[in-house]
Amino acid sequence: MLIVTKKNVNEAALQQLTELLSSLQIEFSVWIYDNSYMLGLNRSLNRDEIEQIEQLNSIKEIRQEECRRQKKDAMSIEIKGKVISQNKFVVIAGPCTIENEKQMEDNASALKGLNINFIRGGAFKLRSSSYSFQGIGKEALLYMKAKADKYDLISVSEITTIAQIEEMSRYIDILLVGTRNMQNYPLLSALGESGKIVILKRGMANTISEWIAASEYISRKGNNNIIMCERGIRSFEKSTRNTLDISAVPIVKKETGYPVIVDPSHSSGKAELIKPLSWAAAAAGADGLMIECDIEPCQAKCDARQIISIPELKEILRPLAQIIQIWDKELG
Ligand code: PEP
Ligand code: MN
Repeated sequence: MLIVTKKNVNEAALQQLTELLSSLQIEFSVWIYDNSYMLGLNRSLNRDEIEQIEQLNSIKEIRQEECRRQKKDAMSIEIKGKVISQNKFVVIAGPCTIENEKQMEDNASALKGLNINFIRGGAFKLRSSSYSFQGIGKEALLYMKAKADKYDLISVSEITTIAQIEEMSRYIDILLVGTRNMQNYPLLSALGESGKIVILKRGMANTISEWIAASEYISRKGNNNIIMCERGIRSFEKSTRNTLDISAVPIVKKETGYPVIVDPSHSSGKAELIKPLSWAAAAAGADGLMIECDIEPCQAKCDARQIISIPELKEILRPLAQIIQIWDKELG
C-alpha cells in the first residue's frame, strides 16, 4: 500500500506519520515525489488502521495499489575526471586495512599497473571484537592521500563517526559507510550535508527496502552522490561469511537510479570465491566491484582469508571487459 502526503508538509508532520506507522508495526520506506512524501508499506492496512492514519492532517490519500517505486533515471557521479555510471564498470581494489607506507606504495603502484583507478583501504576499522586490531587512524589517511596523489588514483576509506567527516574529506575522495553503520542515521544525514561521494554498504541484516530508506537520509540533505554496495547478508548458510544477494543489484539500480557495486570479499569471506562472484556481479549488471587485495594477503592483520593477491586480481580483470559488454559498459 502507498500513503501520499499533501504537498510540502513539514518534517514534524512526517515524523508524526512515521511514528504512527511504527507503533502499528508497519515497515515502510519514504521517498519524495512532486513535493509530497510517498510511503510504501510492507503490508495492507485494516479499516481501523486506515481510520487512524486518515485522521492526520498531512495525509492526501491512501492507495491500495502495490507500492512499487517508480523506475528512477540512472544517475552518474563524476570524480577526478572519472565517471561512475550505468555505462561504466569501476573496480575499487586495495587492502582491507592500511598498515604501513610500504604496503600502500606497493599496492598503489600495482593497481595502477593494472589500469585500476580506485584504491581502497581502511584507517578506522570497526571490528566485531574490541580486542582486534582497529586500524592506524590518521597516519593511514596520510599514506592513502600520498599514494593516491602519486599514482593519480581515487581513494576510498571507511568513515565511522560524524567527527571524522571534516578530516577525512581532506584526505579521502570517497567515504565508505560500512555495514555496521548503515543505520547510523545521524552519520548518514551529516554525510548528506557534506556533499561528499558516499558508498553506502548494505547492512548485514537489512532488507533492500531498509537499505534504500537509509540512502534517503543522505539524499534528503540534497546529496545524490551515492553509490550502493551489496556486501552480502547474514543467512543460515555457513559455507560463506555472508550470502551475496545478487538480485539486489538490478532491484536497487532500478529503484534508486544510483550506481550499484558489489563487494565479493566481505560477502564470501573466501579468497577462492572472489573470481566467480565478481564475474556474477558483472553479469548481473553491477556498475562495479570493490575487492580486497594486497601484496602479501597472508600477512594482512585483518580479513587475510578473503584477500586476494595482485596476480589473482589480474586474472579476474581479464574477462570482465567481455562480460560487461552485455550491458554496453566499459571499464572505468
Ligand atoms: C570494508 O569494506 O572495509 C568493511 C569493513 O566491510 P563491511 O562493512 O561490509 O564489513
Ligand atoms: Mn575487510
